[in-house]
Amino acid sequence: MNNNIISKSVAGISPSATEETSFLANQLKSQGIDIVSFAQGEPDFDTPDNIKKAAIAAIENGFTKYTDVPGIPELRKAVADKFKRENGIDYEPNQILISNGGKQALYEVFRTICEKGDQVLIPTPCYVSYTEQIKLTGAESVFFDTKEENNFRPTLEEVSENITPNVKAFIINSPNNPTGSIFEKEELKKIAKFLVERGVYIITDEVYEHLLYDGREHISVASLGNKEKEMSITINSVSKTYAMTGWRVGYAAGSREIIEAMSNLQGHATGNINSIAQKATIEALNGTQEPVKEMVKEYAKRREYMVKRLNDIEGIKCNYPDGAFYTFPNVTALYGKKYSGNIIRNDLDVAKYFLEKAHVAVVPGIAFNYSGHVRFVFAKSMEEIKKGLDRIEKAITELK
Ligand code: PMP
Repeated sequence: MNNNIISKSVAGISPSATEETSFLANQLKSQGIDIVSFAQGEPDFDTPDNIKKAAIAAIENGFTKYTDVPGIPELRKAVADKFKRENGIDYEPNQILISNGGKQALYEVFRTICEKGDQVLIPTPCYVSYTEQIKLTGAESVFFDTKEENNFRPTLEEVSENITPNVKAFIINSPNNPTGSIFEKEELKKIAKFLVERGVYIITDEVYEHLLYDGREHISVASLGNKEKEMSITINSVSKTYAMTGWRVGYAAGSREIIEAMSNLQGHATGNINSIAQKATIEALNGTQEPVKEMVKEYAKRREYMVKRLNDIEGIKCNYPDGAFYTFPNVTALYGKKYSGNIIRNDLDVAKYFLEKAHVAVVPGIAFNYSGHVRFVFAKSMEEIKKGLDRIEKAITELK
């Protein structure tokens, strides 16, 4: 026995930087400071009423017991129907696993297909949890930077330059957190063909698929062909689309072999997900989609306003995101500027300055493996967005 209380694998993971920033902002809030937070990646809208009602009915009908580990049959079918209807993919209900948020589905897929000696190839900037979850499996993450001038859209050239014989899986996150960027159809086809020919699995995180702007279209990689479908595991969630982050419902779809193995793992880790939330999710998927359209319309207005305003601020350069509710502006022009005896040297310093001076929380790019930028969330009311950007504009004029 060794005397370390914390195992090496868990001691090796870092806390989620986005949650840390939110925590810091909340601490300042609890001291009575009025913080505008552009840090928390979740909708500001309430869960639509039809979905809440389905959950209330589930409670009233006593639907409050254990369920099948991979999800109740009605929900697995609703998810399979959703894939057919929205993505043009044929999955059987037994190829679907319902999990505690997309996050658990991601963890389970890494845990199920990766181990020591394997590598996972990830375009950056990338979602904070991939790397830490991969570390827990013993596998290694291999990163490559996408280019700001390509609006952070990965290219086949970048993938082929960075592939190694040990890469077991590649992560697609389209639309991306933190940039909002998407994989364009023609490039996605080429990348997917390249990967499946080499026997590389594709883990495709599509939690922002419905949040798209300027008429963009979401393409699910498993819809591109049989081989692409066989080699991919699609991860999705109702968190962002239906403003259901607290309900904790996500899902994975893939080959029966992988889904069954993931379900075995889930069975011993958490068992089924909340029975009531499963009923609510059936309504989210099968019920009216009007609230989603309304929310996306609102996000589009906020995106327009936020990007324009950010570009009007000296020292900030911002692309238009294709989707999700994030912008990821370049802040390197602020490097070298001074305030009260401090010098801004990196994106962490920029985020710190915004929080301390402007009382605005943003997440530094380094949290997403991509320095020189900070992430702003525009899932906030227009009023909050205006207030936060006014403050940042003023704080920047005070830098020397
Ligand atoms: N993937 C991405 C890219 C995300 O941004 C998030 C949430 N921030 C998730 C997965 C997980 O979301 P959830 O567990 O709420 O479904």
